[in-house]
Amino acid sequence: MGRKSSCCGATALEVTLAILFIAMTIVCATLIALMVTRTTHTDPEPTAPPPSPPPQNTPYLIGVGRADCTGPAADIPLMGYANTQQKAAGIHTRLYSRAFIIDDGTRRVVFVTADVGMISQRLRLEVLQALQEKYGDQYRQDNVVLSGTHTHCGPGGYFQYTLFMISSSGYIKASVQPLVNGIVKSIDRAHQNMRPGRIYRNRGELDHSSINRSPHSYMNNPEDERLRYKDNTDKQVLVLKFTDLDGDGIGMLSWFAVHAVSMNYTNRLVSSDNMGYASYLLEQDKNPGELPGQVRAFTCTCMSNTTCDEQTVSSACLCQTKMCAAFGPGDDMFESTRIIGQNIYMKAKELYATAVEEVTGSVQSAHQWVNMTDVSVPINSSHTVSTCKPALGHSFAAGTTDGGGDLNFTQGAVEGDPFWDGIAGALLGRPSNETKECHRPKPILFNTGEMNTPVPWHPQIVDVQILTVGSVAVVAVPGEMT
Ligand SMILES: [Zn+2]
Repeated sequence: MGRKSSCCGATALEVTLAILFIAMTIVCATLIALMVTRTTHTDPEPTAPPPSPPPQNTPYLIGVGRADCTGPAADIPLMGYANTQQKAAGIHTRLYSRAFIIDDGTRRVVFVTADVGMISQRLRLEVLQALQEKYGDQYRQDNVVLSGTHTHCGPGGYFQYTLFMISSSGYIKASVQPLVNGIVKSIDRAHQNMRPGRIYRNRGELDHSSINRSPHSYMNNPEDERLRYKDNTDKQVLVLKFTDLDGDGIGMLSWFAVHAVSMNYTNRLVSSDNMGYASYLLEQDKNPGELPGQVRAFTCTCMSNTTCDEQTVSSACLCQTKMCAAFGPGDDMFESTRIIGQNIYMKAKELYATAVEEVTGSVQSAHQWVNMTDVSVPINSSHTVSTCKPALGHSFAAGTTDGGGDLNFTQGAVEGDPFWDGIAGALLGRPSNETKECHRPKPILFNTGEMNTPVPWHPQIVDVQILTVGSVAVVAVPGEMT
């Protein structure tokens, strides 16, 4: 007979398996119990990360926005070289308006930079009127600054003074409307995406990207003043970096003194020139392969230039004035635009990445109409002189080293030319003795300040503004700083 189990009829194997099953169940139950007790009782409460120190400064509300303002790309005179023959015939780069709104919780300022030659009074009034209709008194004469990047290849025809209307073939509604719409739309977008954020400032120097427009004229500055600077151009790049509260960049404003004339007077394509190209590169950096969504903008606080022969002793153009058209540093104007734009982009990008000095403090703004024909200027403790009516002199007709005039005028002239003075006088009338005396020793060629037919030729009352954000001040004056 075979072996039988001794108990309840189960075999020894069955008993062994039953014991193993019970043992494993106990082990499993113990492990589960251990795990539960460990997670619920034995682990200490996870320590919360130490709270980051509260920011010492109250953040601003910041909005940035960009909109196209290119307008018609054919048959519109380009604004900058005062050449009525230079009419648009295509597009090199599109033109944009870029708006920055900063609010300290109490007050708000708007800074706009558009890819145009300059902002005219007429354009500004139309933008302010459109803002008034949309936003009431929120965006006003005193807290909105409009500025141009000074490209010389944007549309013309948005001026109300005769002098500018002559060079741009009148007042051109087709030019004005896209500019007004683009500027207002960039402000709309900035307004819509306002969020808490911070501003950081940085500055550095950029070489090999600008030269003086008139070295000869620069040497007329007092020596003790010249000794204060190591160069005859301003090489500083100033950057304002805008971030949200997480530190993510939302925009950048940058200033560098270069004349946006890489695209010269022979160009017929609408172009934002070197400044616009630098902005484009920075925007593409943040939005690779896409239309730029992050708004960065470049604008000039003053103008120097990029071109012509630094060795020319008198700064006057030898032989033929047109030889002094912008031509550096590339082999052609497209290459020059690319090189200078790239240089500005690289420097601004570096300063943006390393900006740590936070801008703090309240936001303020002020606006004033100034009658520029009657401003008292103290010369010293006992002498005060007064400004007078504007005029265009012989030096204006001579142009600059980067863009000479057409005729035989020379820079720095202190004597008139009987031939040209005679023609100008016969056509446009001679200046009054008072105006002549006021401008002396500079001879007057066109007496624009005393010409009012069919409408005034030259502005006499201009608007002047200042915006401050903490210790950063932006002074807006209508003129071309050189
Ligand atoms: Zn200019």
